[in-house]
Amino acid sequence: MRKKEVVIIGGGLAGLIAGIHLSKVGIKVIIIEKNSFPKHKVCGEYISNEIVPYLNWLGITISDLAPSNITKLQFSSVNGKIIETDLPLGGFGISRFVLDEFLYKKAIHNGCEVIQETVENIVFDKNEFTITTSNNTILHSEIVIGAFGKRSNIDQKLNRNFIQLKSPWLAIKAHYQGYFPNDLVGLHNFKGGYCGVSKVENDIINICYLADYKTFQQFKNIDEYQNEVVLKNPSLKSIFEKCDMIFEKPLTISQISFEKKKAVENHVLMIGDTAGLIHPLCGNGMAMAIHGAKIISELIEKYCNNEIQLREELERKYIQEWNFNFSKRLNTGRILASILQKPILAKSMMLLLGFFPFILPLIIKKTHGKPITLNKC
Ligand SMILES: Cc1cc2nc3c(=O)[nH]c(=O)nc-3n(C[C@H](O)[C@H](O)[C@H](O)COP(=O)(O)OP(=O)(O)OC[C@H]3O[C@@H](n4cnc5c(N)ncnc54)[C@H](O)[C@@H]3O)c2cc1C
Repeated sequence: MRKKEVVIIGGGLAGLIAGIHLSKVGIKVIIIEKNSFPKHKVCGEYISNEIVPYLNWLGITISDLAPSNITKLQFSSVNGKIIETDLPLGGFGISRFVLDEFLYKKAIHNGCEVIQETVENIVFDKNEFTITTSNNTILHSEIVIGAFGKRSNIDQKLNRNFIQLKSPWLAIKAHYQGYFPNDLVGLHNFKGGYCGVSKVENDIINICYLADYKTFQQFKNIDEYQNEVVLKNPSLKSIFEKCDMIFEKPLTISQISFEKKKAVENHVLMIGDTAGLIHPLCGNGMAMAIHGAKIISELIEKYCNNEIQLREELERKYIQEWNFNFSKRLNTGRILASILQKPILAKSMMLLLGFFPFILPLIIKKTHGKPITLNKC
């Protein structure tokens, strides 16, 4: 029997879910997270229902957090032309502020140790990792899960390919109060970006948009950019007119990369955005982070029980399952995003969807998974 111990770097959605899963099946887990909880995060905060059966198995009842129940999608082109459709599976809206803290408490309750420090280095030698943090804490472990998000100092340390490439996207998010339907997620295009709008808990409206840096830097500040670019979409203008911001100022992140990443690098098993970020317009990144955590946890359990004999086999199986479950979704997301960024193609697509609205749910299905249950990825 192998030593049943795993270190997880990053206590966001993917890291916390993996921690909850592994501790539930009797594996000792140490999660290292640089930030404290609760904390707002730049995210659309809409989660597809595909992960609900799995969350239930983990003992996480999402309805306890009183999320909004979302059943419809409203999609608009740059000129504000709207197409509305039912979401094939539906989803819910919950803020990361509430969700991540809830998962953190659940992880602690399950027996995970959470260390609040920044990981500075990971070295793999003689079948063992040595992990060093900013406070000079040194940990050793046979298995390390990388769940450190879209972009981290660890990506630099591991010299990952995507980190060398330019990432021309930034994202802006804030919470609002005002009018927006409870059951709707809005996805509205504007020149050089798209904006997601939906309700989360407590009647709060989350507005989060992705913008290309080249256009953004032509303006003095967020307000000016919003007025001159984002609100040129009349559908978005009418939403913003009915809302007041609750945050003191919006949250921003930059250098968002959608480049391909590897699911295993230097023997670290990557999950969530660390393994690959899907375009936010697909609204499926969080479901993928949760599903990825499930896949790796099940394989690690088999490795600890010697059902999987070798590290190479564990890594090969994980890469296989990751590609099987997520590669097509990521590619569809990339194709959709590039169509929407080309005005003539985007207009043709809107015309097509206008004539044949049944195509929209088919596209949504291509970017989402089926409901996930245990032992069936
Ligand atoms: C603009 C935008 C909108 C989006 N909207 C949606 C949406 O509506 N629906 C959806 O499903 N998905 C959406 N996504 C995607 C979703 O936010 C991500 O896929 C999801 O957060 C991935 O979770 P994660 O655990 O991989 O990363 P994170 O939640 O980012 O967690 C990573 C954690 O690692 C920690 N960390 C990093 N480096 C270190 C270190 N060195 N040491 C210790 N800790 C470290 C960080 O502090 C962080 O807490 C959106 C993404 C963007 C950019």
